Amino acid sequence: MATSNNGTYGGYSYNFVTCDPPDEYLCHICTLVARDPQQVTCCSNIYCKSCLDTLKEKGQGFICPTCRSSLEGKYFKDGRVERGIKSLKVYCTNTDSGCQWKGTIKDIDTHLHSCPYQLVPCTNECGAMIRRSSLKTHLTDNCTQRIVNCQYCKQRGTYQLITSSSHFDECPDLPIQCSNEGCNEKILRHSLASHNETCPKAIVPCEYNTVGCNKKMKREEQEKHNEESMKHHLDIAMKKIDALQVTVLLPRKHVLKLNQYTQLKEEEEDWCSPGPGKERVTRGEVSKHGWGYSKFIVHAALRHNPSQVFQYRKDDSLYFKVTSKAKPWLAL
Ligand SMILES: [Zn+2]
Ligand SMILES: [Zn+2]
Ligand SMILES: [Zn+2]
Ligand SMILES: [Zn+2]
Ligand SMILES: [Zn+2]
Ligand SMILES: [Zn+2]
Ligand SMILES: [Zn+2]
Repeated sequence: MATSNNGTYGGYSYNFVTCDPPDEYLCHICTLVARDPQQVTCCSNIYCKSCLDTLKEKGQGFICPTCRSSLEGKYFKDGRVERGIKSLKVYCTNTDSGCQWKGTIKDIDTHLHSCPYQLVPCTNECGAMIRRSSLKTHLTDNCTQRIVNCQYCKQRGTYQLITSSSHFDECPDLPIQCSNEGCNEKILRHSLASHNETCPKAIVPCEYNTVGCNKKMKREEQEKHNEESMKHHLDIAMKKIDALQVTVLLPRKHVLKLNQYTQLKEEEEDWCSPGPGKERVTRGEVSKHGWGYSKFIVHAALRHNPSQVFQYRKDDSLYFKVTSKAKPWLAL
């Protein structure tokens, strides 16, 4: 028959202070000191109440294991034996852990409710069984359910949550190694983006990328690159400026420039439209071959101060309007 030490099933398996307990106190089923002892009328033997109940529930015949008589209604609680058993002296079940207590079986339950060596479930319900004397320390220092502040962002939560990867994955103040090769700085997560704006190891495009330099480099190499590529940058910038002139005032398809008319204007010669017929550009004329006056944009329409900008800008270009069909000859 299985025994369960100091649970509520089977007999008592305490360590007795004075040698072995008398045979008359032993259960004839579990062989331990009987718990809630019952005396059977057949052979007067003693059994634990729970051992008899188990025997009955098994359904293999409720008969006395000693004399094979039927036990149905043939046993009674033995008060005298119980008093004897309850006054047996035992050691605390936590002797191995260091408890010095010894006392009667009658008193041991009371003792165990305050025994500092007794294992009790954590009151924070973390699932751990903790020695009663260590519970306080456990709750403040070790329990996974204790409330702590994140050491970085100071967020409050259970130790389990705050130290979990799900918190570290989003903790805004967690120091993270800058991912730019060669940068050893540790940056708080929320500052990563702004650090990258200044990180000397961040890969950035050349400052002249808008005018066509496609080189990429570490930010710290920018200055050197600018020094080394000054002429190249200047060249491409000039080309870009040339190409951009006509687009700064109005959409590209309407505004163009014609450098070659500069000279004509200075010499007060007639202007000819750049069309195939090269007609003179004169107000009111209807063009037959070239594009004529009507295709030019009125200077006022450029929305610049005419006294400052006039018809020619600093690049000596004439701006005028054409339809998109006219594009082919617009090449600068
Ligand atoms: Zn028993
Ligand atoms: Zn019997
Ligand atoms: Zn104890
Ligand atoms: Zn706990
Ligand atoms: Zn945090
Ligand atoms: Zn960095
Ligand atoms: Zn460059």
